[in-house]
Amino acid sequence: MSSIRADVAAMLRAGATHAQIKEQLDVTEHTVRRAREALRMTRARRTRSELTAIEDQAVAMLHAGATYKQIYDEFRLSRNRISELRKTNVIPVPDSNHVSATRRLTVDQAFTRHTQPTPAGEHLLWTGPRRGRSAKLTASGRVHNARTVAFQRHHGREPDGRLMRTCDHPQCIAGAHHTDQRLRQAQDRVDYAASAIVEGASRVT
Ligand SMILES: [Zn+2]
Repeated sequence: MSSIRADVAAMLRAGATHAQIKEQLDVTEHTVRRAREALRMTRARRTRSELTAIEDQAVAMLHAGATYKQIYDEFRLSRNRISELRKTNVIPVPDSNHVSATRRLTVDQAFTRHTQPTPAGEHLLWTGPRRGRSAKLTASGRVHNARTVAFQRHHGREPDGRLMRTCDHPQCIAGAHHTDQRLRQAQDRVDYAASAIVEGASRVT
């Protein structure tokens, strides 16, 4: 087995999706399928909790108007299973115009469509699909975390570590109202310097 096939096989065994493997290893769908066929006898089945997590994401994509094919490409769920999920969650069959419109939405357009400022314009609320506490933004068939997108739009860079809300509105996703690890560390240094000045200590020079 070539080394790239071995890498693909290792990711498949670790439970990665085809989309993740193609992106990370820069290989074609054909290569992933061949590797999966070669592994058929020893392929580990998804655990119940892995499947639940995948199905939750598939439901978020259905809510956002993704096609069955987009969901299949991402998670390899059968068409029947996707159809069952749609019915169980009472999600209407999207008309083809809506589907192609959703597929064409950029991240920015999907973000604008699913966010709503509070009346005073202070906070920004997510009105799109959610899974648990996280806001799922689907654009071009991919699922993003809306909070991460909001942070990137505001700060012009990806967040570093966990995002924490600094305002008191539980549904707020505003980038200005979230800090990442880097911002918190910078704030800690400012607080430390300020307290040192207040104490009149000469150690701050
Ligand atoms: Zn806020």
